[in-house]
Amino acid sequence: MKILLINPVFFTLSSFLLKNTNTHTLIPMGNNNQKSSCCSNQSMEKSESTAPEDDSSIYVTRNVKNTPSNSRSLVMSDSAKQTSSAIYPDLYEGHFSSLLIPYKDLDSRCKEIAEHIHATYPSDEPLVMLCILKGSAPFYNLLCNHLSILGHPFMIDFYRVKSYEGTGSSGTVKHFGDLPKSMKGRHVLVIEDIVDTGTTLKSLLPTIAEKDPKSYKVCSMLVKRFHSEGSEDDDEDDGGEITKQIELDNNLIGFNIPNAFVVGCGLDYNEMYRDLRDIWILGEEGIKGGGYDL
Ligand code: 5GP
Ligand code: MG
Repeated sequence: MKILLINPVFFTLSSFLLKNTNTHTLIPMGNNNQKSSCCSNQSMEKSESTAPEDDSSIYVTRNVKNTPSNSRSLVMSDSAKQTSSAIYPDLYEGHFSSLLIPYKDLDSRCKEIAEHIHATYPSDEPLVMLCILKGSAPFYNLLCNHLSILGHPFMIDFYRVKSYEGTGSSGTVKHFGDLPKSMKGRHVLVIEDIVDTGTTLKSLLPTIAEKDPKSYKVCSMLVKRFHSEGSEDDDEDDGGEITKQIELDNNLIGFNIPNAFVVGCGLDYNEMYRDLRDIWILGEEGIKGGGYDL
């Protein structure tokens, strides 16, 4: 097991203070206290390509100028070797190009999201926390732990879909098994690992709507918000933002990330790397390795 301890000073995302370490900067922005209604049904319309006024999500970027002015930013490390504190198995040595999000930041963002959920959903009835397997499981765990600490009642349920093969979307979404009956007449939060094109959610959300929940919304650890940094797309008029097919609530998004293939905290490449605590950008070595034989 490798433990990188090059910069021991971790920032905390919850402080909203400007702190500099050798590798990360946290810029305080935005109003995190704004509440949004929990009870409107998820819309399937296209989202705006500019960030809304109440953007409380966090943008992970190499270049802060790429992020909306009302948002908070997390500047990513230049390389895996220059990161703060990260742990990975020897088996994965040399597989990553850079650390994207350290575990500590994932956990503190989960705490913020749980606080938002607690403040906006009723406490006298259980919220159905629907984990979309497999990738969301570690994020789901962190989130549920913080909800438990807050004393917020919830039911746990699971559903499995699959759309990615290797490092790209297969374009079709496979559903496994039946959706849980718990959703009928209850508020439902669909817990996702990452939203890329929105294809998975576009296939999943109508089937959830059919179960007649009181409301349903998506809570996703990551959203791919930008074209690859340094790519030709960077200079596009839309600020590099990819327009999603799904409307998302910024209070329920962990981090907006560049358009790179990421692994860790549940996210895999052919079933490899789900076990990582931190989120990494997969490097050429990792891609060449091809993940596990299935
Ligand atoms: P979408 O359907 O929105 O294009 O993609 C969503 C699904 O694709 C996610 O639930 C996840 O399984 C997979 N996915 C998308 N981007 C990535 C990525 O960068 N890394 C990994 N490991 N999976 C991804
Ligand atoms: Mg997923």
